Amino acid sequence: MIQEATADQQKNDSTIYLLWTGGWDSTFRLLQLSELHRTVQPVYVRYPGRYSASTEEATMKKLLERIRALPATTATIKDVLVLRYEDLKPMKEVTEAYESVNRRAPCGPQYEYLSRLSYSYPGIEIGIEPGEGLIDDALGKNVSRMLHIVEDEEYSYYLIDPEVVGEDMYVFFKNFRLPIYDTSRDKMIEISKTRDGWMDILNATWFCHYPANGKPCGSCVPCQIVVEDGLGYRLDEEAMKRYRFQKKYEDTFWYPLYKKFRRKFLRY
Ligand SMILES: [Zn+2]
Repeated sequence: MIQEATADQQKNDSTIYLLWTGGWDSTFRLLQLSELHRTVQPVYVRYPGRYSASTEEATMKKLLERIRALPATTATIKDVLVLRYEDLKPMKEVTEAYESVNRRAPCGPQYEYLSRLSYSYPGIEIGIEPGEGLIDDALGKNVSRMLHIVEDEEYSYYLIDPEVVGEDMYVFFKNFRLPIYDTSRDKMIEISKTRDGWMDILNATWFCHYPANGKPCGSCVPCQIVVEDGLGYRLDEEAMKRYRFQKKYEDTFWYPLYKKFRRKFLRY
């Protein structure tokens, strides 16, 4: 009886689930979804070891209000569903598939638990763009090797094609929709500039892994990428100082030790 009700519910539930971190890519996707006539449920996993977690959650709350208030927003965007890492179901076959893929194409540990999560939310969207090592290596940098699914005139996404990937990759990724796999960073900027308010919202997204007093640190990998992409205006002067200091001394013997201790005691 209960099972029947659930199956029926799923059939009629056209809610789009999206993994959201408050970062650039997934926020861009949320902006796209905001203009559909659908219900959208952003999902976030609270991972205990992630230094930036509380800043990410605070950023998402602010961004969500701004996206809901955009003049072109037609979707019903629900509050962020925050799941706890500890509550995700263990799945041996998924962990094994992750380990096998990770040996060939190293990827972040977050993919292991996100893949397990995808079994509870089949069809959940994940914002992976081309150029991200894992999926490029696994799929041969070729978007035409993905399955392009068009649900209706306003909604489409990519799925991995079981014919062209190994079984481990399929177990790992089969429940994910990859909606922005054909969209580069430049293309996202190009699209966003034609929309009211999108660039301001994207510029307010979160990227730093080791925030210093709630602000970008200037020295972690994502912070360095922001500067090197020519978006240094997104860092404040303190962070830019740390960036320049690191560039100047990163090859000395003492800098890595200094950074390690700073991270341990100050957490940035
Ligand atoms: Zn940083």
